[in-house]
Amino acid sequence: ITASDLTNETFRRIEETESQVEAFITLNKENALAAAKAIDEKGITTSNPLAGIPIGIKDNIVTKGLLTTAASKILSNFYPIYDASVMEKVYSSDMITVGKLNMDEFAMGGSTETSYYKKTKNAWDQTKVPGGSSGGSAAAVAAGQVPVSLGSDTGGSIRQPAAFNGVVGMKPTYGRISRFGLIAFASSLDQIGPFTRTVKDNALALSAVSGYDEKDGTSAGVEVPDFAAGLNGDIKGMKIALPKEYLGEGVDAGVKAAILKAVDTFKALGASVEEVSLPHSKYGVQVYYIIASSEASSNLQRFDGIRYGFRSEKVQSLEDVYVNTRSEGFGEEVKRRIMLGTFSLSAGYYDAYFKKAGQVRTLIMQDFQKVFADYDLIIGPTSPTVAYGIGENINDPITMYQSDILTIPVNLAGLPGMSIPAGLSEGLPVGLQLIGNHFDEATMYKAAYAFE
Ligand code: GLN
Repeated sequence: ITASDLTNETFRRIEETESQVEAFITLNKENALAAAKAIDEKGITTSNPLAGIPIGIKDNIVTKGLLTTAASKILSNFYPIYDASVMEKVYSSDMITVGKLNMDEFAMGGSTETSYYKKTKNAWDQTKVPGGSSGGSAAAVAAGQVPVSLGSDTGGSIRQPAAFNGVVGMKPTYGRISRFGLIAFASSLDQIGPFTRTVKDNALALSAVSGYDEKDGTSAGVEVPDFAAGLNGDIKGMKIALPKEYLGEGVDAGVKAAILKAVDTFKALGASVEEVSLPHSKYGVQVYYIIASSEASSNLQRFDGIRYGFRSEKVQSLEDVYVNTRSEGFGEEVKRRIMLGTFSLSAGYYDAYFKKAGQVRTLIMQDFQKVFADYDLIIGPTSPTVAYGIGENINDPITMYQSDILTIPVNLAGLPGMSIPAGLSEGLPVGLQLIGNHFDEATMYKAAYAFE
């Protein structure tokens, strides 16, 4: 098969399924076909397993000349003049960018319902949400539109949609993949990562897009292993921890049953599984919403109607440009975060909220460090529930925020976390979350591959 054949077939498949899942904001057909042709002319060699493979990109990753909206009205006319560093990795590995995927506006949300453009559907049941914020990235892979996509994860936005759609999603260690050109939500938490249908594909994709980048001040100068090469199905003697907080109150019975079954599978494979405690993880949601919103309120100051993007027509003064552009350009959830963040950072409240949140964040990190002194890997559910109905929770922010309780602590600690399919509950996929030590994605892939 040639790259051109595969690209044509990809667009045929997208046309066939897109009216049901609505995963894409923008398609990149002409450029993708031209790129495929160039790859065919150059010749595909077996040394690069990703050559000619179609990939979908979350719409908060900037792509030169290709509309990049972050699912916001305020970027509805933004054609970037540069590529994110991760896109340079995509191009140098000869993958074909087929389009930009739907998401929650500025990655704020857990159901892809805050997108200004469309509502993506769960690939298993069109009445259910695909999760979020990378809902388009997960649904596109689950619906067979693309074999791989990129998403971003600030508090669970790769792992939770992967869980809801029954695919593999990896949020690597903070610093593993360059964030240069990822439209910033909360800079100390954001990470890009791949979605795929299989663990091995995911390992290949992560190796391809990782690595040090001088354009990102938080990029890590660590070696990038060939993650796929280490997969042999042998996890005998691996020491796995199961935090008791992760199967506690609020976790659905069907989800819990699927995770306990996964525990048995790991034991049968020769690993040990023991109960541990992450006592401060219960504060994760509160800490996260202060830190993430504070960073967001600062990061989103650049959308002022002057530099780029949408500008309100209803203006008489400079102040009108700022106020009306932002009032009309941002959705409800984004405004809620900006207000919460501005409040937490304001004089007189800073010590009580932002500073305190930072201190509790350290306690959450220390909980994980204690566990990793004795164990190789932590497991638990990705989300307390399976996918819920479209419209069911979106008007209840507190319920939405609470549902990230199992993924958020991982971002606060900068650790790698992944979600892999672990059976069904109520006919919908359950995600098993694997949490690794810093820069030890290799152990997670080993365990996930043996389990799969
Ligand atoms: N659902 C969480 C939030 O709304 C996480 C989002 C994310 O990881 N980008 O902030």
